[in-house]
Amino acid sequence: MVEIILKKGKEKAALQRHPWIFSGALDKIKGKPENGDVVKVFAFDHEFLAYGYYNANSRVAVRLLEWNENQLINKSWYQSRLKQAIASRQFILSDQTNTCRLVFSEADFLPGLIVDQYADFLSLQILSSGIEKVKTELVDILRTELQPKGIFDKSDATARRHEGLPIENGLLWGENPPEFLEVKENGIRYNINIAEGQKSGFYCDQRDNRQILASYTKGKKVLDCFSYSGGFSLNSLANGAASVTSVDSSGLAVETLKQNVALNRFEESKVTTIQSDVNKQLRTFKESGELFDVIVLDPPKYAPSRSALDRAARAYKDLNRLGMLLLEKGGLLATFSCSGAVDLETFKQIIAWAALDAGKEVQIIKQFSQPEDHPVRISFPEGEYLKGLLVRVL
Ligand code: SAH
Repeated sequence: MVEIILKKGKEKAALQRHPWIFSGALDKIKGKPENGDVVKVFAFDHEFLAYGYYNANSRVAVRLLEWNENQLINKSWYQSRLKQAIASRQFILSDQTNTCRLVFSEADFLPGLIVDQYADFLSLQILSSGIEKVKTELVDILRTELQPKGIFDKSDATARRHEGLPIENGLLWGENPPEFLEVKENGIRYNINIAEGQKSGFYCDQRDNRQILASYTKGKKVLDCFSYSGGFSLNSLANGAASVTSVDSSGLAVETLKQNVALNRFEESKVTTIQSDVNKQLRTFKESGELFDVIVLDPPKYAPSRSALDRAARAYKDLNRLGMLLLEKGGLLATFSCSGAVDLETFKQIIAWAALDAGKEVQIIKQFSQPEDHPVRISFPEGEYLKGLLVRVL
């Protein structure tokens, strides 16, 4: 196995079990590893640190997997990691919920692997060359452990490009999922489109937050911005919202949301769908003077990296300022950021800035985070990406 020696003083993060080693920290590579090979990493003084996946194309040159030198990284190692990850999600799955994240990359010691369950199907995202190399074994283990009808590759293009991997999407094993696959989350039914839907087909990271938000919507006039397949809209309807307006720029998302309203037999007359850019639509509401009791802002990731932070902060601020201006007095704004680069404190500052600009006083009445199937390893704070605030706008 190829051995990598780090520069003097660069072992600290690995000793603290952080899973990333940046290319600038490498001193010597003893051998010629291929991208995706498992390598053995040592400190400058030759103390063993960990095993990890090597990748010459990535800024993260080694993604660490295992800190025990005596542990072989073989099929049974993968099997035990996968079994552990799957077992820890079983309490989420029930006759009311048949979709959740089974494997969450670094948090489950499998850097670059995401596995989502959608009823009888599994959707994989393979985002590191190390995982790409053992894809066949992983599919084999998942088949044996879970007996799905089909396993589908739905890898995110940008992350694969960073690792120098070709963009691939398709069936890895078994049957292709139907064009619209029905899943259930907290008793609400969703048709999801795995092949064409965004990310991995459904945003299961908002499962708890949809329910929490819905508990504030009885009898209320709700505006769900960035509604996708309707997570917040449908939960609000289930909880007796008076009306829901759902805005998304994607035609497929809006169509799917409409299908989902019908699938759950909610009153269609209570729902207005608008296919539009949210920023534009909020300005239209402002001009017409239309106000809401509860507004959800769940935008896509505005800051893909730290370098995009300033721009992203301005975009979040503007969006939230507009949201605050469209609330009835005492109305609630549920505002989210799924940018890992924006931490909770920064997000609170952005909301404070938005409130000042809007000329409003706001109170934080709840904080939102990511659910149990998206754990945050204490040594890997970067894994904490989803945050949100429920604020009352006075
Ligand atoms: N709230 C959703 C998930 C939102 S994901 C849920 O609970 O499932 C982000 C959504 O924002 C996507 O559906 C995407 O189509 C939409 N989107 C991205 N940019 C947008 C824009 N400028 N205006 C409106 N929608 C946008």
